[in-house]
Amino acid sequence: MVPFGTAPFIKAALETAAFVRRFFCACLRPGVTSPLMLKAFHTPPDLLRGLAAPAKANVPLAPRTWYRTGGSAAVYTQPENPDQLAAVLARAHEHGVPFYVLGSGANLLVADAGVDGVVIRLDAPGFRKMAVDAEARRVVAGAGADLFKLVPATAKAGLDGLVQVAGIPASVGGAVRMNAGGAPGDISRGLTRVRVMDGRGDVNDLPRDAICFGYRHTDIAAPLILEAEWRLDAGDPRGLTALYKTLYARKRDSQPMGDKSAGCCFRNPPPGATDGATAGMLIDRAGLKGFRVGGAEVSPLHANFVTAAPGSTTANVLAVMDHVADTVDRVFGVRLQREVVVWGADGT
Ligand SMILES: Cc1cc2nc3c(=O)[nH]c(=O)nc-3n(C[C@H](O)[C@H](O)[C@H](O)COP(=O)(O)OP(=O)(O)OC[C@H]3O[C@@H](n4cnc5c(N)ncnc54)[C@H](O)[C@@H]3O)c2cc1C
Repeated sequence: MVPFGTAPFIKAALETAAFVRRFFCACLRPGVTSPLMLKAFHTPPDLLRGLAAPAKANVPLAPRTWYRTGGSAAVYTQPENPDQLAAVLARAHEHGVPFYVLGSGANLLVADAGVDGVVIRLDAPGFRKMAVDAEARRVVAGAGADLFKLVPATAKAGLDGLVQVAGIPASVGGAVRMNAGGAPGDISRGLTRVRVMDGRGDVNDLPRDAICFGYRHTDIAAPLILEAEWRLDAGDPRGLTALYKTLYARKRDSQPMGDKSAGCCFRNPPPGATDGATAGMLIDRAGLKGFRVGGAEVSPLHANFVTAAPGSTTANVLAVMDHVADTVDRVFGVRLQREVVVWGADGT
């Protein structure tokens, strides 16, 4: 038991230690790994032994995210079907080990120390299936299907509704989870059903009217999205393909699509919180374009993007984001909220 009166000192000491660790991690030169960033995993490396799902221990996640930063997954698995997936969940639950679902890693920052748990990726062929039925105006896609393939296929088939998310890097699962979109529209348009798996491995079909879609948010409680279905409007394939190209080019010209990032780092402030200024406008007005820590930088092209040059660390990126949020708060009195999902200790 902690003696009365010492708790504030212990809290202060812990906060100081955390600050020192963050400071050293943030100030590292790109590409240099500090012993402060290394962390032993508690997850048994052979946790999934004997199961059918292919699994490996200590798998680097940086190549599997758009940021290309961060450490390893203690255990990484790519189940081939829902039965294998359910067995993985059961084993993790049995051992009290957390699990994380990875899409295409386009809205994700992984802590430099890695992720102590099971990272599940639904990118086996069974989870990547796409069916585009022009006559029935029906589209069904697995969680692992790539939006870069699905969206032009719907345009080519003369189906209108998904073309509005042209140029957004995502798996179907990640796009539905985040309600990916922008000014032209979002992934929920025309959506009729989402197939999910709960933490016990039970599969359910959620009809559209059972799901609330908000700004970069869904209220789907189940941890795993397995499949989504849309009923789209009929349109002209040539016109839709032209629209796809226009929206794609507009994105490419206004955002640093060639740099490593996770798209917009911060959510736009709620209506009424500003004079209509977006997060990017506030960051720009605060003079933060070009602010950098290590290889991480507020993009000079689009202020709501923090890009990471090769060799950057996640701590670099988080240090830039923290500075941006603090500065915007100080200058405009608006606390920006992260849109990017952060996994692991550096995010807490
Ligand atoms: C250059 C660039 C531009 C971008 N532009 C946009 C934009 O215009 N609009 C926009 O909305 N976003 C944009 N983003 C962000 C990103 O594309 C979206 O958030 C997208 O939805 C992420 O999908 P993902 O498959 O990569 O998910 P991930 O980044 O892998 O994961 C994101 C979250 O979804 C969860 N998740 C992933 N798959 C599943 C699943 N099968 N079941 C349950 N949960 C799951 C993860 O656990 C995590 O919490 C951009 C990103 C980049 C890099």
